[in-house]
Amino acid sequence: MRRPLVAGNWKMNGTRASVAELIEALRQQEVPAAVEVVVFPSCLHLAQVVSGLGGKAIAVGAQDCSTETGFGALTGEESATQLADAGCGWVLVGHSERRLILGESDEVVSKKFSAALECGMTPVLCLGETLEQRQSEQTLEVVGRQLARIVADAGIAAFERAVVAYEPVWAIGTGLTATPQQAQEVHAAIRAQLAREDQRIADGVRILYGGSVKADNAAELLGMADIDGGLIGGASLNANDFGTICRAA
Ligand code: PGA
Repeated sequence: MRRPLVAGNWKMNGTRASVAELIEALRQQEVPAAVEVVVFPSCLHLAQVVSGLGGKAIAVGAQDCSTETGFGALTGEESATQLADAGCGWVLVGHSERRLILGESDEVVSKKFSAALECGMTPVLCLGETLEQRQSEQTLEVVGRQLARIVADAGIAAFERAVVAYEPVWAIGTGLTATPQQAQEVHAAIRAQLAREDQRIADGVRILYGGSVKADNAAELLGMADIDGGLIGGASLNANDFGTICRAA
């Protein structure tokens, strides 16, 4: 069986003081041992969160990594080598805010995915369609194409060590969520696409849903057959709400 996973994406939020409060509040939360939990703070706060949550069953990841591994002349970037050294076991790749606002192509996302794996980190590959694409019934095609690029470059075996997150762009930070049925349809299509390459790997890969998951809608979404957890933005900044979502998984 797939172990439920709840991930908190803190995005470009927090100061040292507010992060210290959030760490303290997270330490008070009861999280069932059956649920795996990881938070993704800003790079600035990684060391603080790694040491603050040390000993708690909450892992720490980065929101992005460089396409390049190792060290070198690449101003402003962090490599997966450095992130792993800082205590991160996880990294988000291809979040829609990076694809759409910062212009990351499928090629760049694919290189980051492979860079994370090469450094022993678990990439969380984010996929999702815009509102326009959903309205013109291109959802499965768009998500399928984003996924196919990674499968082609990294190989299906990479998905034994990776997580997928389906995040419809129109649902992120908007208060709109996909209905459990809409989300399930895309999750099932993602799994079926992977199953065409390798059934066993497809059965094992965790596919998270993200997009306005809150304490009061988590149970219904995370109860769907192919939804194995959530990628939580706004609600992950409130420890009580995040704790409720973890318990709902
Ligand atoms: P949201 O963000 O929960 O605030 O909609 C989700 C995400 O972008 O990962």
